[in-house]
Amino acid sequence: MSQPKIVVLGAGYAGLKTVKQLQKKNVNAEIILVNKNDYHYESTQLHEVAAGTEPAGKITFKVEDVLDKNKVTFIEDTVTLVKKDEKKVVLAKKGEISYDYLVIALGFESETFGIPGVNEFSKPLVDIKTAESCRAYLDNNLANYAKSKDEADLSIAVCGAGFTSIEYLGEITNRIPKLAEKLNFPKDKIKITCIEAMPTLLPMFSEKLGTYGIDILKKRGVNFIVGTPIKEIKENTVVYEQDGELKELTANTVIWTTGVRGSAVVGKSGFDERRGRVVVQDDLTVADYPEIFMIGDVSAVMDKESNRPFPTTAQIALQQGIYVGNALAAKLSNQSIDAFTYKPLGTVASIGNNVGLGNVMGKEVKGYIGSIMKKNIINKSLVTTGGTKTLLKKGRFDYYH
Ligand code: FAD
Ligand code: NAD
Repeated sequence: MSQPKIVVLGAGYAGLKTVKQLQKKNVNAEIILVNKNDYHYESTQLHEVAAGTEPAGKITFKVEDVLDKNKVTFIEDTVTLVKKDEKKVVLAKKGEISYDYLVIALGFESETFGIPGVNEFSKPLVDIKTAESCRAYLDNNLANYAKSKDEADLSIAVCGAGFTSIEYLGEITNRIPKLAEKLNFPKDKIKITCIEAMPTLLPMFSEKLGTYGIDILKKRGVNFIVGTPIKEIKENTVVYEQDGELKELTANTVIWTTGVRGSAVVGKSGFDERRGRVVVQDDLTVADYPEIFMIGDVSAVMDKESNRPFPTTAQIALQQGIYVGNALAAKLSNQSIDAFTYKPLGTVASIGNNVGLGNVMGKEVKGYIGSIMKKNIINKSLVTTGGTKTLLKKGRFDYYH
């Protein structure tokens, strides 16, 4: 009898971890991993590449370097559609491939909420290409000031104040003094504005901890405008609503970090989704399709206590990957497996290289200790996805900067 065929789509946290778990379990199946690039990237560090504080090479590694080629076939291609009723996946270059079991782990895209001008006049931050584009955009505008003397070249707008925006602000405020020397612009003329729709900043933390983080950014020159939803992006202009009135902010650098949605492939393939995410069953499969697992940012796992989905994070994506590797191994040997349960370990956000803040195992951490925690989390994630060699090459051991 031929072996069952498992196809995993996406080599991010969720997909790569699934494949590594299948390798570890030594399942008797043909395993295929499809990813649009030949590299994996640690999405949790994209803000560093976007700000220019780390090169892309620091947060990427070749997918094939961490696969056991005797057990897994890697296909570098873009998934365009899942034909769920025919058990086939359509790839941009290689055409159709069939599966017996499918793991969809295609990750996130930028959420525009249909706001006019976002795609044309601002830059998203969702993968290596967009992160590098953010970096070039900021550097070019700052460099241009020497010729233009146009203050809009020194004006940076960050849209939204979620964790991605806060971590990006932490990095650019660290880098700007060095850039000012290199690119010859007056650093006191830099204007950084962060515009947030909700009235409270960092609401997931205690008021004291949130204020601690925001005050650091304010001291580094960031101006926060809150309770002010962005309504439109025009060329070099952010339009937001304040007290019922539309106001405009001029900035030549506009970074769009107002949240994410799951891959568009999910909707195109006819799954019952909201913002590219499917509410999955207790075993992470899709209702009526017991052979399809949906994990990572394309999935919504309900938190039974709050009756809301858990936030989409690398942390839950990795736990889902391990679970699905185990679940597939169990299915193939006709064993049952308990429902998936998420064990949140906490959250730490960085504000540049030397400050972190968050909650770890129920305790608040902040400052330099917080940054050490953050580096440990980055290293743990890297060893999980990339193994010890990758950790030694690309891990964070600069604790004493
Ligand atoms: P991804 O990591 O996005 O991986 C998806 C993979 O699929 C990628 O390799 C992509 O190239 C590939 N792919 C996409 N589309 C296609 C296609 N059509 N065909 C083929 N391949 C495709 N979470 C935390 O827990 N902690 C943090 O500190 C944290 N920090 C973050 C910082 C930033 C700046 C951002 C943006 C997010 C952060 N997150 C963090 C959230 C976290 O990055 C995501 O939840 C996580 O990446 C989701 O993992 P995933 O495997 O579902 O998707
Ligand atoms: P998010 O959804 O968490 O934050 C987006 C922010 O933009 C929100 O505060 C929202 O109110 C605001 N916003 C939305 N529309 C707006 C508008 N029109 N005008 C102004 N503001 C608007 O998104 P994110 O920060 O990209 O994070 C995505 C996911 O990744 C989350 O689950 C987050 O927890 C996770 N993440 C975690 C970390 C960490 O743990 N250190 C870091 C980054 C991201």
